[in-house]
Amino acid sequence: MRIFKFGGASVKDANGVRNVVNVLRITGFRDLGVVVSAMGKTTNALEEILARYQKNDNSYLKLIDKLYEQHNEIIVELEEVTDFINEDEVLRFRESGIKNILKGIIEALKGELLRNKTKNYSFLYDQVVSHGELISTKIVAAFLNACNIPVQWVDARELIKTDTKYRDAGVQWQETENTIKNISGSSFLTQGFIGSDDNGFTTTLGREGSDYTAAILAYCLDAESVTIWKDVPGVLNADPRVFQDTVLLEKIPYNEAIELAFYGASVIHPKTLQPLQRKSIPLHVKSFLNPKENGSTITHSNTLLPEIPCYIVRKNLIFLRVSSRDFSFIGEGNISEIFHELSEAKMQVGLLQNSAISFSICVEDKYSLINVLLSRLQERYDVSVVKNVALYTIRHYNGEKVSSIENEQQVLLKQRTQETLQVVVKQ
Ligand code: ADP
Ligand code: ASP
Ligand code: MG
Repeated sequence: MRIFKFGGASVKDANGVRNVVNVLRITGFRDLGVVVSAMGKTTNALEEILARYQKNDNSYLKLIDKLYEQHNEIIVELEEVTDFINEDEVLRFRESGIKNILKGIIEALKGELLRNKTKNYSFLYDQVVSHGELISTKIVAAFLNACNIPVQWVDARELIKTDTKYRDAGVQWQETENTIKNISGSSFLTQGFIGSDDNGFTTTLGREGSDYTAAILAYCLDAESVTIWKDVPGVLNADPRVFQDTVLLEKIPYNEAIELAFYGASVIHPKTLQPLQRKSIPLHVKSFLNPKENGSTITHSNTLLPEIPCYIVRKNLIFLRVSSRDFSFIGEGNISEIFHELSEAKMQVGLLQNSAISFSICVEDKYSLINVLLSRLQERYDVSVVKNVALYTIRHYNGEKVSSIENEQQVLLKQRTQETLQVVVKQ
């Protein structure tokens, strides 16, 4: 079995959905598990709907209607006869009842919010935001089936079993393996990003988590490979939105890929690599626009090919310098205390450096808990804060000048190990 993952960018509009048909006709579609994310920026839109709802701003209902219109528009466009779909197939697509299915999911979303009584924001977040993937998979599955690509629509919440850490749920591997083994039939299509807890409530695996879903399915099914289809030729040595003259990385060892993802190369979700590495399942990252090109392959190889410096930038981080108040050393006890507070505030640490009386860290405040963290730390320490910093990481640093990074911006911290240079600058 092979697992394919199509992200939001690949199904952002009707042409994107048609292109999924194109890709599957080229690659074949027997014994295939297809994972699909929400279309385009739907997850952001759902986050905005929830934010307005939380503020008792009834305009959230207008945004839900807009979401409905956008998806309905895609369905209407998909009903046109094109090179991909003939008249009979269009008829089949219509007869799938997809327009009513969309209406039903939108009504369920409204009902979820109108009936809501919970004060648990993360819980509500998962119940709401998961609708993006439910809608996209219904549309894509109906279109593929109409185009003679038979896929069974499967609810990922019946496959991926998790704990109750809403918005960042942990997989219960044994239960998940048991349920996934029950999938019958040749090829299936399911949602990325979502799962369910023991009580059947929806959970999510963290933003951008659909890559991880593909890896979980591959692990549990002993798949022969995973392919994630992207709007780039594969994993490049830098994000082409930020750097010029990027180069395709053709072969990447698992441990190199996990480092790149950890440092923030957002092309692969960091949790994706571990399940694949454990079962030696290769990960292909390929262009959905050029499906015949090889792209990047991540396996157990020894060296990165080509072996060149890789540049990663993470923006909108926070730089904290925590110092003792009385000139006493920042020792192991203090560091463990600081880390405890970071973990309570769910902060991911990108870089750290300690000196005798201070401890510097660069963190990502994913859950907007910085004020909680600061008030806890300021009970005992002096804390200086610089918001809006960028962390540049260069893997396989070869001593080349990084003046373009350093000259333009104020450098707050620079750290070099044998392989890696990291620079924190004010954005
Ligand atoms: P998806 O549609 O699967 O959600 P993403 O938008 O999350 O896709 O990921 C693809 C994007 O990742 C690319 O458009 C690119 O801008 C960005 N990116 C960041 N780092 C890299 C890298 N090292 N190589 C390729 N793309 C990268
Ligand atoms: N739709 C989710 C997100 O935008 C998951 C994903 O795309 O991987 O974060
Ligand atoms: Mg994404």
